[in-house]
Amino acid sequence: MEGEAHQRGARSPPPDPGGDRDEDERLRELMRLCYEEGIMPHNIHPGEMSIEGREVRFKVNEHIDRVKIAWLKEHTVTVIFRERARFLPKKVKDDIVRAYEDDKIQDGSFEAENFRRGRVKVESPNVVSYVAKSRAIASWMVTKGHDEITIGQDTYKLEFKPWLSKAQLREQRREEDDLTFWVVAVQVPLDSFFYLEAQVARAIGPIVRTHPTEPDRLKPSLVNIKFDNDPTSRPNMKDKIWVITPEGDELEVKLASSETPRCRRCRAFFHTDNECRRGARQNQPNSQPGGGGQQSASSQGY
Ligand SMILES: [Zn+2]
Repeated sequence: MEGEAHQRGARSPPPDPGGDRDEDERLRELMRLCYEEGIMPHNIHPGEMSIEGREVRFKVNEHIDRVKIAWLKEHTVTVIFRERARFLPKKVKDDIVRAYEDDKIQDGSFEAENFRRGRVKVESPNVVSYVAKSRAIASWMVTKGHDEITIGQDTYKLEFKPWLSKAQLREQRREEDDLTFWVVAVQVPLDSFFYLEAQVARAIGPIVRTHPTEPDRLKPSLVNIKFDNDPTSRPNMKDKIWVITPEGDELEVKLASSETPRCRRCRAFFHTDNECRRGARQNQPNSQPGGGGQQSASSQGY
C-alpha cells in the first residue's frame, strides 16, 4: 500500500532519466498510468515496423515487453469460473470480482476513501482478467487460490491464478473444454423435439444437464437446446440426427459442439466470422430470410 499514495498525484509521464534502473522505474510508472488511468504513453518505442499492403506489423522491444509482463503479473489476477459458474451472466461475474474488493475494504486492508476499483476484462466464457489497483489485493487473491461462493441455493467454484498470457489463456481454455462436453441441437423442428433428449442420450451418451430451449437466432420459429454430457462420451459426438417418421418424412437435427465452427459476430454455428452474412447483407443476396430483426448475442454477455 505504501507505494501507492505518493504515485497518485503523477498525471503526466515522468521525464526520461538515464540508467537502467531509472529507466525501468519510468517504464513501470508508464504501465501504471496506462493500466490504471487509461493513459497510453505517446513517447514509448512503438517497435520495429514493417508494412504489408494495408497491414502493419510491429515487433515490440523485448526489454519493454518484459517490464510490461512483470507489471501485469504483479497486478492482474486471472479468475476462472469453474463448472456451472461458467454460465453465470457477465454482470454477475463482474459483481463477484467486485465483492472481493469490498471484502478487503471492509476488513480494513484499505482505506475506503482512497481505494479505487480495478478493471475487469472478459477473456473467454469462463475467464476474466482483473487488473487490481493495488498489488496487495492481487497477491491476496492469488495466494487464496480458489474459493466457493453461494448464490441462492447454488454453489459456484472460482479459481484465482496469476496473470496469464494469451497463449496460456488458450491452453487454459483447451483444458476447460477437455473437462466439459456439451452438445447443442440446432434448429430443432417441433416434430423431433419430443424425442431429442432420448436420442442424444442414446446416440452420444448420458446427459448431465439439459438447458432451457432458446429460439434460434437465424430462424426464431425453431429452437436450440444445449445438453451437458458426460465428457467421456466426447468420442461419440455426431453431426446430425435424422428422424424418420412413419409417413416417410426425414427430419434433420444438426448437432454442434465446442469443436464446431462458430461465428463470433452472430454466435451462430457452422460458419466463421469471415463467412458471416450478417452486416454484409447488401453484398450477399443469399442472406437468410427471417433473421432480420434479431439482435446480436452480445447482450447475453457471452
Ligand atoms: Zn455469423
